[in-house]
Amino acid sequence: MVPVSVVAVPSPLHTVLRGYKDAAVAEARRRFSSLVELLLAGFVARHGCCVERVVGGVVDMVVPVPPTRRPGRPPLAGLGPAQWSGRVRPVLARGPGPLRHLAASRHGYVMAGRQAAAEVAGRRVVLLDDTLTTGARAQSAAVALSEAGAGPVTVLVVGRVVRPGRSAVQAAYWDRVGAAGFSPDSCCVPGCPGIDTVPGLTVPGTEKS
Ligand SMILES: [Zn+2]
Repeated sequence: MVPVSVVAVPSPLHTVLRGYKDAAVAEARRRFSSLVELLLAGFVARHGCCVERVVGGVVDMVVPVPPTRRPGRPPLAGLGPAQWSGRVRPVLARGPGPLRHLAASRHGYVMAGRQAAAEVAGRRVVLLDDTLTTGARAQSAAVALSEAGAGPVTVLVVGRVVRPGRSAVQAAYWDRVGAAGFSPDSCCVPGCPGIDTVPGLTVPGTEKS
């Protein structure tokens, strides 16, 4: 699993990651969506090579995780990074099985038709989700892809969610990770070159001097 960021609850970033799909006002959803899109594009511009190292080669296909409750198109489907344009394929659908928070489900997701299953066979897949807490949902989606014959499946999540107020373990984790702060130039993949490859996308205050 490769997280773009680690996000505490509550925090402004968590509001963005919930609000881009759930905010009551359309204008707010649009603004939050632009932020999510920018965050993803900036990450892939800098760390697409890191993701490829984890995947084990060129990313053949980017599969957004469908919404848990309502049916329909995954909210991230239209926000896939431009660098991977044409490779974003919403081939998963919500399945008949339950999707619980703590345990992965074998039938939580299914392939969206026979054509979708044929499409993923043997492909290196990046499974894209907005937030990840326990990982049960992403794992359920990865199972569906693997059973359809996908090659390696790597989860790319915009925000790895931490609730420091909920347990001592999460508080300790947040103390360590939160203290390090967010830098667009580095990621969690070992050997990350950590170079700013896209001038102009640098977050103010993080410019190299
Ligand atoms: Zn990196």
